[in-house]
Amino acid sequence: MSRDPRLKFIIVGASAAGLASAIALKAAGHNVLILERDPQLGGPDDILFDWGLEGELRANAVVGEGFTVYKYEGKADGRDYIGTNRWDPELLSEARGDFLQMRHRDLLRILSNAALREPSAPQNGRTATSKVTIRFGAEVVDADFDACSVTLRSGEVFQGDALIGADGATGFIRRRLLEEEGRPTDYVPKGLAVYSAIIPKSIAVKDREVSKLYQYPQKNMVSFSMGANRGAQAFLAGKEEDIVFWVYTPDTSQDGTWIKTAEKQIPDVLGQCDPLIKRLAALAGPATCVQMKNHYELESWVSQSGKVLALGEAAHPFPVISLHTYSIAIEDGAFIGKIFSHTRDPARIPEFLNAFEENRKPRCLHIDKSEMQHVDIMALPFGPMQAGRDAAMRANEAAGRNVMDVGEVHLQAMWDDMRMVFGYDPADDADDWWMSWGRLRDAPNAQKRAH
Ligand SMILES: Cc1cc2nc3c(=O)[nH]c(=O)nc-3n(C[C@H](O)[C@H](O)[C@H](O)COP(=O)(O)OP(=O)(O)OC[C@H]3O[C@@H](n4cnc5c(N)ncnc54)[C@H](O)[C@@H]3O)c2cc1C
Repeated sequence: MSRDPRLKFIIVGASAAGLASAIALKAAGHNVLILERDPQLGGPDDILFDWGLEGELRANAVVGEGFTVYKYEGKADGRDYIGTNRWDPELLSEARGDFLQMRHRDLLRILSNAALREPSAPQNGRTATSKVTIRFGAEVVDADFDACSVTLRSGEVFQGDALIGADGATGFIRRRLLEEEGRPTDYVPKGLAVYSAIIPKSIAVKDREVSKLYQYPQKNMVSFSMGANRGAQAFLAGKEEDIVFWVYTPDTSQDGTWIKTAEKQIPDVLGQCDPLIKRLAALAGPATCVQMKNHYELESWVSQSGKVLALGEAAHPFPVISLHTYSIAIEDGAFIGKIFSHTRDPARIPEFLNAFEENRKPRCLHIDKSEMQHVDIMALPFGPMQAGRDAAMRANEAAGRNVMDVGEVHLQAMWDDMRMVFGYDPADDADDWWMSWGRLRDAPNAQKRAH
């Protein structure tokens, strides 16, 4: 019997990176099995628009127009407003997208439905028979990177042509890759924890102060509060327009996950803050608590066998609640699918996985660094730097500029940086690699890292 010509990918993790990879690999004509530890789906948009998901995404999101900035600590007579920053329409149009503020579970549901949907018509004669299967309650507890197989807690074993670890910053595949390199598998705590809670609209609108968040333009803005080693964000998300409320605090007494209710709750960890933050904390129900961590970097995202790749947060963990973490996870998926649209040859897998790393790594590490800088700037301790930051922002506001505008000298550099982040298309990048390198190489010479 002849071998099924499609490649079989096993993906560990059914979150943003795993589901986006599955959609793109299916579109490229391959079969995908996703193994997800949790019993159900947990609790950037131009690429998703290209995948035909624009209508569904917009129906489940609030379109963000920018953010307003306040001092976390407030002032004697109430809130201390610093200024406003609006997203540049020119930049958004270049990026062919919008800032969509949505709930994690809605995004995952939309991605999962798209991954499992039967194609309405064969595309390129390929997708008609390609398939994605998701197994929930399937925790991977062992893996053989040479055989490209994984073992579940239940004892079941699955084998594929390639294995993708999309299992997050503390996932099993990432840990194994770190072990392979002889690196520590733990992390260094950053000394800040993020408490996260949802305030239903039905409760929020009954509070005189909190209900002001529903008035335009604040309705489409993130309310952003900067404090000394602290911070807070509040914004409307999803079609329900519930309030997502995040508090950054130096409280390091507990660490948890996005789905486990923390023992301490937000009012316990607030410190001195303005009246709106206090009101939001009082209305917030059970919160989760996740510590910010400095993770050890993986030297290579590809295993020595050449058959296993980490992507999403498993490859490049971002600070908790980074602005770009979802869009980068989705870009990873789009890139891996696009390059694998060019091969069904198992012998070329190591070359393609290494191409993913070589092309995606510089961008992901750059964005990780700038995300961490945002956290550091937001939570500057009292002192000359914090005073300078506040004075510059207030001066911009007084001059009618965006608070994040910087001096003329730096403006061009900042624009270049923003263009690099927003004006990027992973499909174009993948095509460039294919035209410049992939199509020229012979499979036997291609296994760069396969020792
Ligand atoms: C349940 C959940 C809720 C979240 N909510 C938010 C939020 O509200 N706001 C926010 O900014 N970020 C949230 N995040 C983080 C956010 O998803 C990531 O920062 C980002 O999108 C990158 O995702 P990822 O797909 O690379 O990894 P993750 O989102 O971390 O997903 C990893 C997936 O792998 C699964 N997994 C881990 N180990 C195994 C194993 N051994 N076997 C099988 N499966 C495994 C996990 O259950 C998870 O589904 C949440 C993450 C999760 C898991």
